[in-house]
Amino acid sequence: MRDPPDYHEQAVHARRSTALDATVQVQVLILLRRLQRELGMGMIFVTHDLGVAAEIADTVAVMYAGRIVESGPVARVLKTPAHPYTAGLLASTVHGQPRERDIDAIPGSPPDLRRLPPGCSFAPRCPRRIADCRRSVPDPRFPETGHMAACLLVTGAIGRLS
Ligand code: SF4
Repeated sequence: MRDPPDYHEQAVHARRSTALDATVQVQVLILLRRLQRELGMGMIFVTHDLGVAAEIADTVAVMYAGRIVESGPVARVLKTPAHPYTAGLLASTVHGQPRERDIDAIPGSPPDLRRLPPGCSFAPRCPRRIADCRRSVPDPRFPETGHMAACLLVTGAIGRLS
């Protein structure tokens, strides 16, 4: 017989939102939110869809090339992204854009994780890069309490991820 689930443990939920139609996707999100509320359950939700993150998360962490490049309260990160990759992701969605407007896709492709470029991994694709960006991996910077971005251009306290 199986032990009853421990709902106080965190659940890691990885799903492929692209495989679901919009109606099923909404139903799944509503169900997950209900489970969170009723069971007091923490959840790590892995998605490529920032719109889904906005619906379900309190806190978001944006990853690029295997590293967290920005994190913080979901509303703050999505409204005022501090890292150029997050800003690029938000600009490359059709949600909230006029129909006639072309999507501002991020140029280039993600790097080969076995051969990361020197310095900031996003530098080859970053429209704001400067020469120093290729010297070392940027330390996390905190423009506001609880909001982190690993980018040389971000002003704020420099720290470490715990
Ligand atoms: S550190 Fe430089 S290359 Fe990296 S995201 Fe910031 S500006 Fe762009």
